[in-house]
Amino acid sequence: MQIFSIRKRTRHLNKLVHIILLFLLHDATAQSGYIMTVNGKLEPSDSLLVLPHEHVVTNFAGADKIVRIPYIPDPALNVVLPHLMKLKQSGINLLVECTPEFIGRDVTLLKKLSLESGVSIVTNTGFYAAAEKKYLPAYIPSLSAESIAYAWQNEFDNGIGGTDIRPGFIKLGVDKGPLDSTELKLLKAAIIVSRKTGLPIAVHSGDGVAAADELRYCISEGLAADKLIWVHAQNGTDEERKKLAEAGVWISLDGVNENNVAEYTKYVLYLKENSLLSRLLLSHDDGWSVDSNGSYDKLSLFKNGNSQPYQAIGEKLVPMLFTMGFTADELHQVRSVNPQKAFAIR
Ligand SMILES: [Zn+2]
Repeated sequence: MQIFSIRKRTRHLNKLVHIILLFLLHDATAQSGYIMTVNGKLEPSDSLLVLPHEHVVTNFAGADKIVRIPYIPDPALNVVLPHLMKLKQSGINLLVECTPEFIGRDVTLLKKLSLESGVSIVTNTGFYAAAEKKYLPAYIPSLSAESIAYAWQNEFDNGIGGTDIRPGFIKLGVDKGPLDSTELKLLKAAIIVSRKTGLPIAVHSGDGVAAADELRYCISEGLAADKLIWVHAQNGTDEERKKLAEAGVWISLDGVNENNVAEYTKYVLYLKENSLLSRLLLSHDDGWSVDSNGSYDKLSLFKNGNSQPYQAIGEKLVPMLFTMGFTADELHQVRSVNPQKAFAIR
């Protein structure tokens, strides 16, 4: 009888521990959120190594000239896939693809590349108003923020362009600050969608004045600063980056190439000295573009200094940071923990 009762109590205790563990696990997932990839939700993991701002194939023809081809172009697969495979071998398993609609976003191509390479890929919704609105269809400035938000929300709820592929963030592009009325309207639309979905907002920003304007507007609309990613923060100064990082904004230094590693090391060191490594994201902004006729047969690599796309951080910057005294934990924070937090949907 005694033994039976002890067994019964042990069983109850085990059950209780199990329930508590499940609760804790559920709570942890709810807090850390998930990342939306082209293949669906991805749970955060210690083993994810991330490039938070890259491209695959872009088309810079302009919003009034660009045509979307209705099939996956072989050259795009043949050219890009080996580089993604190499990336996977080097330990990078998550790539955030930042090409917006009207600059050649092709989510079907991204899904195929992701499945074949084993690298998870995140795509986006949003519009790009930088480069003096060349990539923004002329009808968009006349739409209300609410109707723009509706279109983006629809991509998140129902998939992009008839696919089941959903965006993992909102991508905007603005020129140098202060923001003009169209840029502000797009930001307003992004805030509406971010509030409803939890999607982060990554803004290609012409300078630090534009980024500071974005933060002010987000705060005035009640959106948390950590929903904002300052894309191309290398266009700002150390002081501007420090100020926005202290406010909670993600600082994306995303133009690392084989020739500017010393310069980036200085930017990163400055953030470390100010205890702000926890806000830093690092990437290359590498990718390919189609030729002026929109042909995928002659893809050219971006001319941003990298002969080997997606590799300069792992091969050049990281070794340099190690020699400067950075620890493995600090680099793990910057390359794994930070981007997962920045792109987490809660
Ligand atoms: Zn970019």
